[in-house]
Amino acid sequence: MNPAAMAVLLLLSLAFFANTIAGRWWLLRAAQPERRVDRPWRRLRGLLVLGFGQQRLLWERGAGLMHAGIFAGFLVVSVRTVTLIGRGFDPEFQLPLLGAGAGLVYATVKDLGAVIVLAAVAYGLWRRLVTRPARLSLSAEGVLILLWIAALMATDLLGDAALFSLRPDHPEAAWAAVSRGLSALYAGSTRDVADAWWRAMFWSHCALVLAFLNYLPHGKHFHVLTSLPAVYLRRLTPPAAADPLEFEGRETFGVGRIEEFSWRRILDMYTCTECGRCNVNCPTAVTGKPLAPKSLICAERDHLYALAPALEGVGKLRAQGRAAAAAAAADALSRPRLTGDVNSEDAIWACTTCGWCQSACPVVIEHVAHVVDQRRYLTMTEARVPPEMHNALRGLENNSNPWNASAGGRADWIGDRPVPRMSDKGKARYLFFVGCAGAFDARNQDVVRATCGLFDRAGLDYAVLGLEEGCCGDPSRRLGHEYLFAAQARQNVETFRRYGVEKIVTACPHCYNTLRNEYPQFGLEGVEVLHHSELLARLLADGRLRLGPGASATVAYHDSCYLGRHNGVYDAPRDALRAVPGLALAEPPRSRREGFCCGAGGGRMFLEERLGTRINHARIAEVAATGAAAVCTACPFCLTMLGDAIKETDRAGSLTAFDLAEIIARHLQDA
Ligand code: SF4
Ligand code: SF4
Repeated sequence: MNPAAMAVLLLLSLAFFANTIAGRWWLLRAAQPERRVDRPWRRLRGLLVLGFGQQRLLWERGAGLMHAGIFAGFLVVSVRTVTLIGRGFDPEFQLPLLGAGAGLVYATVKDLGAVIVLAAVAYGLWRRLVTRPARLSLSAEGVLILLWIAALMATDLLGDAALFSLRPDHPEAAWAAVSRGLSALYAGSTRDVADAWWRAMFWSHCALVLAFLNYLPHGKHFHVLTSLPAVYLRRLTPPAAADPLEFEGRETFGVGRIEEFSWRRILDMYTCTECGRCNVNCPTAVTGKPLAPKSLICAERDHLYALAPALEGVGKLRAQGRAAAAAAAADALSRPRLTGDVNSEDAIWACTTCGWCQSACPVVIEHVAHVVDQRRYLTMTEARVPPEMHNALRGLENNSNPWNASAGGRADWIGDRPVPRMSDKGKARYLFFVGCAGAFDARNQDVVRATCGLFDRAGLDYAVLGLEEGCCGDPSRRLGHEYLFAAQARQNVETFRRYGVEKIVTACPHCYNTLRNEYPQFGLEGVEVLHHSELLARLLADGRLRLGPGASATVAYHDSCYLGRHNGVYDAPRDALRAVPGLALAEPPRSRREGFCCGAGGGRMFLEERLGTRINHARIAEVAATGAAAVCTACPFCLTMLGDAIKETDRAGSLTAFDLAEIIARHLQDA
């Protein structure tokens, strides 16, 4: 071809690209450090499954196959593109390993790859322009990119077709059936015309691909470049375990400015594809609150780019080790408030931390950390919190419970029942961690008493802490008071150590998540933490609890987010329910992985819900639609929220909310 022209094209486009990527790199450097390179094999495995395997995209058949087709075809055709660029310098250029036989097989695969991409693009255009799924927002960029990809494939196929019409004996002609078929388009053309087409397609393809590369970092299609690194650098800790905060030597806590996020949060912003999957089952987005997780990430990204020229300078200073100068440059920057202007405070406080968004995001964006980081700033640095949160925080600080009930009443639920206490027994096989809801909330005290009754019937060696138990810290942590959480966690861990605790069981998924996934950050090691549904299912399976026949009834099971989605406990409560004679299990429309939040997680249990439809009302309508006479939960917050919703929506005559332990206790066979 023309080596000089190819050299100019390549150098110019790569120089522009390098300049843009350098800017993005300095923004990452302006952000805070975070370590994400441990356990490389596990990271690689995830890369294969989530990245190359497109696992989360394929949960949705049509769109998933379309994306997988474009992704796979694009990878295949990219090899051809590199070859073509090489042929700009040397007409005989061939990539290593693609000579002779392998090259001919590749010609077939590449041809098919281009056709698959074209079919997927056609389907993508149909969806965007005709069927328009609700989660997608129609954007000119989305259509432009699809057309751009189609043009890349078309120029490749038509270029090969022109080449084969010029050289019917070309070795690849027999292997590339589609291009060879398309060469019929040039039948009757002179050699000069076919040659001109070949050159035109060659240069168009090379120019389009290099322009495409330069366009990507400027829009949502930056994910083409960042999604695989984002998947590799994903968090490997449990999904609902918040990262601990370093308090030493800091004047502010949490994130009040965009560069106070870790670099990983910045990578999240680069990687969002705006696909809207995170919004589909988000309880706040669905019920008309000001928080939609996609908008949260996009607003932060737009804010970041608006500050980019100045923040790149901050990143360069940090990279030079000039921390004080970097801080001064960041301080001097005039900007809107991250929480308050970019994201509304209502949006940040609306999140229930249910985790739907991050479990559905195909590029593993970590939305909850974006929310909790900003809550930490509002709570600990600015004390800018919803008015009703003051009482919960006061209660957590002074009485170690968010209801602000007297700490001395924590064991009142026991009354004169013979519930074993650690202080009397000294040691027990299981510590039953009751939690604040079980200890202080009247409705949930019934659940705790029923659970103790089941443990007694099964002959379980267990004990409770009584007044020695403190709040596990879940509300403090989700509401952004990390300092208080750390103190609560340390105190409970010390108590567990004092009694040599080896197994803990709790009826609260929030306690379960915190003890199991977050207390290891505070030194709790080698302790098995179980949810009561897991233990009850085992006791039933082992015959230590025997159930007798009861009236037949249909019961809908509602998944708690902190038990199901965050910790993968879906089967144990269902197995326990199935063990109840005469009971039929119903599933509400959103269940298991797609379970719909009750509205109480993330500390929302203690905040008012003033905007949009009430989440628990939306959920109870879904449950009622199953026709079940009862709804079973395995979470004290869900029990309260669904029970309230039943009353508030006048369903008390047709629907009742129970905890799993209560249902089992009602069916116990007489001893
Ligand atoms: S955050 Fe993830 S799921 Fe949500 S729009 Fe962006 S890429 Fe899609
Ligand atoms: S965690 Fe739940 S409530 Fe919060 S943004 Fe994600 S889906 Fe919405």
